[in-house]
Amino acid sequence: MKNQKKYMLNLFRHIGLIAIIITLAISSVIVYAQHEHSKSKEGDKKEKKTESIVREGIIDLKKIDKNKDGKVFQDFMHWNVISDEAGKCPLCKMTLEEVTIKVAKENLKKNGFKVK
Ligand SMILES: [Zn+2]
Repeated sequence: MKNQKKYMLNLFRHIGLIAIIITLAISSVIVYAQHEHSKSKEGDKKEKKTESIVREGIIDLKKIDKNKDGKVFQDFMHWNVISDEAGKCPLCKMTLEEVTIKVAKENLKKNGFKVK
């Protein structure tokens, strides 16, 4: 009778341990899956951004300045490459320079681009 009690106690301990291991395994898989998911989402966003910072036609600087701080990032090799965030020119890989909207506008006008 005493031995059986001991055996049951040991069994419960083992079950508890196994349950903890399974829970940890499942939660780590979930965390990993979520991480992978958000990573791929971010990658998509970045790709779209690099494509769209090469401006064409009439350039609307106020629309580009999404955070409304009056500043944008412009490539001094390709004036029509303008982004609201720091980054690199997708055409020549130069680091974009931070300029005010006013300066960006003047640069564009000087170089024959149409500005709204
Ligand atoms: Zn460039």
